[in-house]
Amino acid sequence: MPITPTEKIWMDGELVDWADATVHVLTHTMHYGSGVFEGIRAYPTPDGVAVFRLADHIRRLFDSARILMIDVPFTEEQIVGATRDVVRANGLDDGCYLRPLVYLGYGEMGLNPLPCPVNVSIAAWPWGTYLGDEGVANGVSVKISSWRRHDANAVPTAAKSTGMYLNSSLAKVEALKGGYDEAILLAQDGRVSECTGENIFVVRDGRLLTPPNSDSGSLDGITQDSVETIARDLGIEVSHQQLIRTDLYLADEAFLTGTAAEVVPIRAVDDRPVGGGKPGPITQEIQRTYFAAVRGEIDRYKDWLDHVD
Ligand code: PMP
Repeated sequence: MPITPTEKIWMDGELVDWADATVHVLTHTMHYGSGVFEGIRAYPTPDGVAVFRLADHIRRLFDSARILMIDVPFTEEQIVGATRDVVRANGLDDGCYLRPLVYLGYGEMGLNPLPCPVNVSIAAWPWGTYLGDEGVANGVSVKISSWRRHDANAVPTAAKSTGMYLNSSLAKVEALKGGYDEAILLAQDGRVSECTGENIFVVRDGRLLTPPNSDSGSLDGITQDSVETIARDLGIEVSHQQLIRTDLYLADEAFLTGTAAEVVPIRAVDDRPVGGGKPGPITQEIQRTYFAAVRGEIDRYKDWLDHVD
């Protein structure tokens, strides 16, 4: 997905020109994957552009840093404010994708990260659908990866760390080279974990099932949580439950969720059509409600919106 440059990027308390937002080649995080980050979206609403669940994303950023013993030199409130500043400074009234990154900078090398300087950047740019408009409308095909999700005692899966994504990238490339849109990773014990950057849901007999995040090595998704709330409000029962690959094959419907991807139907798993190979009614209703919620069209979900002005 190409990046469209905007004007300014926030770096350590200042808005700098896009082209000047560079780092030294000996930046620690470049060598050891020692950063933590977030992916956030802002959407246009009838009351102006609003960042979706901003405080929750920044809380998760700080939780990720805490797991890695990174002392962020700003408060959560400061980073929340800086994120709004980036949207405003770039005039992104039609919405955007935001990428806050906490990284260990230049000055120390070696596997002890503790003496390294801690830097923070926040970039934003307009970004279309992550898995394509066609995928959002008609569903994506997914393949169970030959790569397993990390064990939480090998690499902490609750931390959204840069290093963790080597695992996701391997799975993504394998899936794309095989002609699929996305990969599903199994946990070390063979249960379903998640996709490369999305959580997974299946619908069976009108109930929504998603793996238990801490047991399956999947991230505690903010979109996953939003979808659970929406589903319950629609009267659909939701539970976190261990799933095996045949639960995906036998699903009536399946979909994936993530800030970048949003809510995307799964039309096939390992070449087996899911629910006749097209988005099912529950998936479509949840997807419709999610898109209306992020755009400020449903009063009940207005608390999720953080207005920039
Ligand atoms: N799992 C992984 C591995 C991810 O990278 C993401 C995206 N942050 C998600 C799940 C979905 O999380 P969220 O809905 O909070 O974006």
